[in-house]
Amino acid sequence: MAKVDFIREAEVKAKEIYHEFYDVDDAINQKEFVTPLGDIAENLGVSAYVISFDDELKDHVELAQYFKEQEVEGFSIKGSNKIFVDDKPETARQRFTVAHELGHILLGHLEGEGLSVVFRDSGSSPKSNDPNELSANAFAAELLMPEPVMKEAYKMTNSIASLATIFGVTRKAVVLRVERLKELGVI
Ligand SMILES: [Zn+2]
Repeated sequence: MAKVDFIREAEVKAKEIYHEFYDVDDAINQKEFVTPLGDIAENLGVSAYVISFDDELKDHVELAQYFKEQEVEGFSIKGSNKIFVDDKPETARQRFTVAHELGHILLGHLEGEGLSVVFRDSGSSPKSNDPNELSANAFAAELLMPEPVMKEAYKMTNSIASLATIFGVTRKAVVLRVERLKELGVI
């Protein structure tokens, strides 16, 4: 599948999810721009836990080393519908990690063989050409900064810092999202 196709597919999946559990018009009218990620996950039967990777992995030296080397900030366990994120990064990053893992679960990336999927920084990681990682990031960006909501917010401000605050995401996530929505001709 071409790159554009799987990215679009992930975005469409996120749109379906938020339209099901979240009233975009209400969000815009009430200027409540933070996606209720916890509620959405719960409605989908997925539990997200924020834990200290340092504490949990202190007796598992090799795994701890792997997590550190790979800059793992979150992971999901196959068949469990459970997401674990590290408590070290700022909350905005944790939210993106949860949304990213939710993407892996809902896009079917945890089916089949292999290790549970891990999160890496969007766009700048060594594995950023991995289609599953790119689609999980596209899913997360669409879920946390829904296209119609972002379009409205962008009319109010094009300040990256302000948008990051009102959506509860990192500045970097906003920068990438704005680029994408410009590419799509939305903003
Ligand atoms: Zn991932």
